[in-house]
Amino acid sequence: MEYTALPKVQSFLNKEQLPLFIDGKQQPSQSDKKIAVHNPATEDILAYIPNASKADTDLAVNAAHKALNDGQWPKLLANQREKIMLKYADIIEKNEPELAQLLVLEHGKLYVDAQKEVSAAVNCFRYYAGWSTKIEGSTLDVSLGGASHFAYTKREPIGVIGAIAPWNVPIMMYAWKTAPALACGCTIVFKPSEETPLTALFMAELSLEAGVPEGVINIITGDGQNAGNNIVTHPLVSKITFTGSTEVGKIIGQGAAKTLKEFTLELGGKNPVLVLDDADITKVPKGAAKGIFYNQGQVCVSGSRIYLPKNKYDNFVADLGSIANGMKTGNGLDSTSQMGPLVSQKHMQNVMRYIDSGKQSGAEVVAGGSKLFDKGYYVAPTVFSNPENKNIDILTEEIFGPVIVAVAYDGIDDLIQKANDTSYGLAASVWTNNVSNMHKTLEKLNAGMIYVNSPVRSDPNLPLGGFNQSGIGNELGSESIKAYTRLKSVVIAY
Ligand code: NAD
Repeated sequence: MEYTALPKVQSFLNKEQLPLFIDGKQQPSQSDKKIAVHNPATEDILAYIPNASKADTDLAVNAAHKALNDGQWPKLLANQREKIMLKYADIIEKNEPELAQLLVLEHGKLYVDAQKEVSAAVNCFRYYAGWSTKIEGSTLDVSLGGASHFAYTKREPIGVIGAIAPWNVPIMMYAWKTAPALACGCTIVFKPSEETPLTALFMAELSLEAGVPEGVINIITGDGQNAGNNIVTHPLVSKITFTGSTEVGKIIGQGAAKTLKEFTLELGGKNPVLVLDDADITKVPKGAAKGIFYNQGQVCVSGSRIYLPKNKYDNFVADLGSIANGMKTGNGLDSTSQMGPLVSQKHMQNVMRYIDSGKQSGAEVVAGGSKLFDKGYYVAPTVFSNPENKNIDILTEEIFGPVIVAVAYDGIDDLIQKANDTSYGLAASVWTNNVSNMHKTLEKLNAGMIYVNSPVRSDPNLPLGGFNQSGIGNELGSESIKAYTRLKSVVIAY
C-alpha cells in the first residue's frame, strides 16, 4: 500500500544505522553490529539500529548515573518535574500523527489503535506528572527508651532504572516505564524491543524539547543477549523493570539477583474468558473477539481460551467463528483493515506452528487457521473448537497471536477448575449477570487482573501484574511509585 511518510518520520526511515540516544544527544554506536527493522505489512526494511555494545551501555548508564547524582535532575523541585512532564505529554500529543504512523510502520497495528496508544501514553505522562508532587512517607510512633524520639519514613528515588520492553505496545511500554521514573526523580536506560525500536528513539528525542535534562532518559537498542543483558548486569543500575516472556523473565531475574538489584517482571499469560450460564450471550461473542483479535492477539492480557456452558457451546462458537471469518485483515495504514499483520516473520512462523499443532491434535478449526497473502506477516483470525478440553498446546501455552480456543464446561465448579488449570495467572475476563455467581468466581480465580463483562483494558491508575508464572511485582498506579523509590527510615532522638 502506498503512503507518504511524514517529514519527521522520514528521518527514522533512512537505511543507515540510526544513532542511540545517550546523555541528551544522538550518539553513534560503538558497535559495528546492526539489526534490520522490518515493516511487517510489506517485509521491507525500514531502518537499521545498532546492536549496542557493552561500551554503549556503559556510556548510557554512566550518563544516567551522573544525571541522577550531579546533574540538573536532583536539583529540580517536585513541581518543576511535574511541569516538565506535563509539557512532555503535550509535546507527545502534538506529535501524535508522526508517532502513530511510525508505530504502524514498525509494528503493523491498525492506525486507529496506534493513535489510541499515543493517547494512552499522553495520559500516562499526565497521570504520573501528578504523582511527582504526591510522593510521601509517614511519621511513626516508636517505643524506644532513653529519650524522646521522632521517627519518619521517606521515599527517595531508587536510582538508575534499567528498563527492558517487548514489542507489542512499544509506545505504551515507553510511557509505563519512563513516566513513573521521571515522577520519582529516577533516571532511566530504556531498551526497546529490537523489533520495534523506532518510536522509543523518537519519543526520547521529544523529551529534550520538554526540558528533561540530559542523561535522564537514555535509549539503548539491540538484542536481549547483548544489549539487554548488559543493562541487567550493570553494577550502577539499581532496578530492573522487565516486560516480556516468562522464559526471558526467569533469565532476567537470575541476572538481577547476581548484583542484588530489585526487579519487577511483567510476563506472559494464557488468559481465560469465563462465560457463565447467566451471561448476556448476545454481547459476549463481540467482546470475546475484541479480547483476542485486538492488536492481532499480541497483548499479554488477550483472552485466548474461552469456556462456554455446554448447552450454549455450539451456537456461541458459531457466532464467534462468523465474527472472525468476517474480519478484514490488511495493512494497518488502510482504514478499512480490522486486523493487521503479526510483528515479525519469526513470530508469524511461531504462531503458525501452534495452529498446525492445534490441527494435528484434533481441535476443529472453526475460522481462520492459515497464513494470508504472499507479502507481510499476516495470519487469519483463528477460532479452534476443543469442547472436550483436550490437554493440547494451543490450550496451555501462550501463543501471543490471533488464536482462541473454545472449551465446554459443566457447572461453575468445573468452570473454575478449568480456568485455573494453567501455570500462568495474568488476567481473566468473566461474563455474567448474576452477582452471586460473579463473586464466587472472582474469589477463586488465580489471576492478577480480572475484568467483568468487558474485554481487558488498561488505565494508568490500575495496577497491572500477574500471579504464578506471569510475573513478580506490579506496574502502574501507585505500585510503580513504590517500585521506583526506596524507603528510608529515620529516628531522631531529642
Ligand atoms: P521477550 O521476552 O522475547 O523479549 C522482551 C525483551 O527482552 C526484548 O527487549 C528482548 O530484547 C529482551 N531480552 C531477550 N532476552 C534477553 C536477555 N537474555 N537478557 C535481557 N534482555 C533480554 O518478549 P517479546 O517477544 O518481546 O514480547 C512478548 C512477551 O511479552 C509475551 O510473553 C507477552 O505476554 C509478554 N508481555 C507481558 C506483558 C505484561 O504486562 N505482563 C505486557 C506485554 C507483553
